[in-house]
Amino acid sequence: HAKDEGRDCHRYFTRPMDDTIKRRAIIEEELRTALVSGEGLKVFYQPQVAGAGDPMIGLEALIRWEHPTRGLITPDQFIPVAEETGLIVPLGEWVLRQACATSRRWPHLFVAVNLSPVQFRSSEFAKRVIEIVRECGADPHRIELEVTEGTLLENDEFTRGALDTLRVAGFRIALDDFGTGYSSLSYLRQYEVDKIKIDRSFTQHLGHAADEDSAAIITAIVALGHTLGLTVAAEGVETEDQWQALAAMGCDELQGYLFSRAIPEDEVADLLVTPHRVRKLLSERVPMS
Ligand code: C2E
Ligand code: MG
Ligand code: MG
Ligand code: MG
Repeated sequence: HAKDEGRDCHRYFTRPMDDTIKRRAIIEEELRTALVSGEGLKVFYQPQVAGAGDPMIGLEALIRWEHPTRGLITPDQFIPVAEETGLIVPLGEWVLRQACATSRRWPHLFVAVNLSPVQFRSSEFAKRVIEIVRECGADPHRIELEVTEGTLLENDEFTRGALDTLRVAGFRIALDDFGTGYSSLSYLRQYEVDKIKIDRSFTQHLGHAADEDSAAIITAIVALGHTLGLTVAAEGVETEDQWQALAAMGCDELQGYLFSRAIPEDEVADLLVTPHRVRKLLSERVPMS
């Protein structure tokens, strides 16, 4: 009400913390609208490649929001709001459906979907995931579910049950952002997972002579993962040097801007036809005259 928005009210909203609250309320409202209309929300896919760089073996579904007036809003800006408001539940289901459709189109690739701890709070969550994937006609064996420490931290008995149900149904479970949390190692003992994704903060520092620690840590994580029978992936590969180092360390799977950013699904075909190694050769080839 315009009448209520007096001087005090205005001053109230210009305090930084209140700006944040206001901004969140706006995002919530607009996200709600976007979810209903289906406008602006998109799922992009970032390729995941084998340790050798080729072939492409999987895709990670990453949500994008193209706001009509404010341009591209990154997940870091709206996922937390979606989690606080519970909107992550319908949003997560929508992403899963998109990922299932994509999975059916590329039967030789796996499709990874990020799950929020908030989604696990519903006792029906595992059942719901299984139901949605079945409805969409996708194969659970080709869908990977990425969970973070936030999920494992929340309520272990309950979460373990949900993860077990999902694994029995055929889904693979990947531990995302591995190594950044407080008790990454203890989770490996407490939960059955299939893959660990080494966080990009470790990958980033590879190749700098000053940071031999990152290399030592990654080497140890790869050895640990392999001893436990897990697949080890690395996120955030941006340079040839990082790629070579990770390949030499025995990383099974790689993901990062070096290979590709997250792209619209339509562009996946082009990358499959012209994989990284070939593109690199083409770009390096001196034009013949
Ligand atoms: P994440 O699951 O760890 O995804 C990887 C993020 O790193 C993505 O950011 C990706 O674009 C970015 N990335 C990939 N390769 C590189 C690289 O070489 N260098 C750098 N600097 N960054 C790279 P994005 O798409 O902005 O997503 C951020 C986070 O938002 C994700 O982190 C994930 O936690 C969350 N998120 C995204 N989509 C969803 C979703 O559908 N559901 C849920 N619950 N969370 C999502
Ligand atoms: Mg992820
Ligand atoms: Mg990650
Ligand atoms: Mg992350």
